[in-house]
Amino acid sequence: MLDALFTAVFPLVCPGCGRPGHPVCAGCAGTLHPAPSAPPPVGIDAWWAAFAYEGVAREVVVRVKYRGARAAVPWLADAMVDAMVDALDPRFAIDVVTWAPTSRERRRARGFDQAELLARAVARRLGDHLDVRCLGLLDRRPGPPQTGLAGAARREGPGYAVRRRAPRSVLVVDDVATTGATLAAAARTLRAAGARVVVACTAARTPPPRTPPPTRP
Ligand SMILES: [Zn+2]
Repeated sequence: MLDALFTAVFPLVCPGCGRPGHPVCAGCAGTLHPAPSAPPPVGIDAWWAAFAYEGVAREVVVRVKYRGARAAVPWLADAMVDAMVDALDPRFAIDVVTWAPTSRERRRARGFDQAELLARAVARRLGDHLDVRCLGLLDRRPGPPQTGLAGAARREGPGYAVRRRAPRSVLVVDDVATTGATLAAAARTLRAAGARVVVACTAARTPPPRTPPPTRP
């Protein structure tokens, strides 16, 4: 009901060009870049990502996170599952899909956790191929948001606690990863709670910083 009202007041327009399109028009979809390759963070056995975190893809992720644009969640989840090319490999044998949760305060303020919405949508799609469940395994300890931190504090990642014993193989879902510190922190906690295999999938991955051109003496 509220969703319908919201859609009536704010018609579904493409975040790239502002023309009608759900969630991204065909023209802007052509501008999307696949995620740049990156080594998995420490403790993660494989890391898949749908898009480079830039341009239209970045705008879609930001709208889900800060403006509750839930209509874009299934679209992102489809792209994430498409990117998980070797996720069906028997060496992974994913039992449970979980997410890297935001803090309770931010979840309360926003009314949802975008990583959980993505994890539930990804698990539904993976369910066509794998016998997986979506379960909340992690709680985030209070602390500042990662985006407000720099240097060592950011590389360390947020503090997590487990809600229950972890299954053997876990897929951790998040919206975007920059340093991978959040995924590494989640993996550390899940392995300490019994997980043997931890893989990750994010909607977007930050492109590596461009090296400035050498300055001539
Ligand atoms: Zn567009």
